[in-house]
Amino acid sequence: MKVLVLNSGSSSIKYQLFRDQDWVAIASGLVARIGEAEGEIKLNWLDDQGASHSSQESLPIPTHQAGIDRIIRSLRESGVLTDVAELAAIGHRVVHGGARFKHPAIVDDSVVAAIREVIPLAPLHNPGHLAGIEVARALFPSVPSVVVFDTAFHQTMPPTAYRYAIPESFYSEHRIRRYGFHGTSHHYVAKRAAAMLGKPLDQCNLITLHLGNGASATAIRAGQCIDTSMGLTPLEGLVMGTRSGDIDPAVLIYLCKHLGFDADALDRLFNRQSGLVGLCGVNDMREIDQLAAAGDERAELAIGLTTHRLKKYIGAYYAELGRVDAIVFTGGIGENSAEIRRRACEGLERLGITLDAEANDSRASRGERRISSASGEVKVLVIPTNEELEIAQQSRLAVMG
Ligand code: AMP
Repeated sequence: MKVLVLNSGSSSIKYQLFRDQDWVAIASGLVARIGEAEGEIKLNWLDDQGASHSSQESLPIPTHQAGIDRIIRSLRESGVLTDVAELAAIGHRVVHGGARFKHPAIVDDSVVAAIREVIPLAPLHNPGHLAGIEVARALFPSVPSVVVFDTAFHQTMPPTAYRYAIPESFYSEHRIRRYGFHGTSHHYVAKRAAAMLGKPLDQCNLITLHLGNGASATAIRAGQCIDTSMGLTPLEGLVMGTRSGDIDPAVLIYLCKHLGFDADALDRLFNRQSGLVGLCGVNDMREIDQLAAAGDERAELAIGLTTHRLKKYIGAYYAELGRVDAIVFTGGIGENSAEIRRRACEGLERLGITLDAEANDSRASRGERRISSASGEVKVLVIPTNEELEIAQQSRLAVMG
């Protein structure tokens, strides 16, 4: 059987098709610019001999329904899918599941209603996910749709970690609390870390650092999340590509009172114009590394602030956990930037965290690897994330009951 994973946004749908006997992704692609005059369709696939192919087309894709139709047609034409009856499940990524979803769920009307209900908490994401879910259900009623939530892995946090210290009614009446995001990635790398450590996940204490354009840190005790850096929305926590991360809320009050900001202007400032881009004008860490190496002071400050904040979270989560088996770096920056990893771990030798400089710097190494020195009590691991695979596997498990 096969599992199709859809990540449906407001104007694009990313997808991957997995074969469930060996979990190889036999096709992946993108339908973009839905609703615009000219849409874009990209497909990569493997043939029976394992050779890779790709195709690209431009044509109008007026709706999500047309987009998903095109995806299935492309998969059929390339020969990777003969019939939709081969699909054991369609797994959908959903950013926000509120407090209700601790696990993946097979989609029915009540699940759709629950995802709709938390739209105010994820206005940029959940409507696009819902469009994809509803079209998949309508087009393929015989194939179960499963939703896998970015928030689910974090629902084991205790109230001391998920509540804000504001009056109780904001929590009980308006659900204002910390939810956490990137959960699918944190869960995936935690499982891989346990395999690398040779221990069951429920015996592992881990700090997982997902550092991409969005970034978050998670403290995992005995395999379960006990704290994470993102909050009500993905804005809280680490310094990110375009988001500020932690900030004194009084800055918002000041901007409203003295500089005429309103809610939309605050949203733009802190979600789109801050973080790395706000500090140095660029949000691609490769470019920032080059600028800093050439003496650009703003780029150097951006790297300094990023690693200073990271180190604070490593220290805080170490204190919460008491004992740490491994720290895991993942995401585009975590997997690729030796400099960010070096500076985040620098000076933590007394905590048992010591990098092997050669293993950390090696450009030849790819894939899962240990970068801590043999003497370091805490293992430091680089583990490429694979959220789509995690969604596919969780979806398959959900339909097997
Ligand atoms: P993601 O959101 O996980 O796709 O990660 C995107 C981020 O990873 C961008 O800021 C990229 O600059 C960064 N990135 C990708 N490759 C590298 C690299 N070789 N060195 C430093 N950063 C990288």
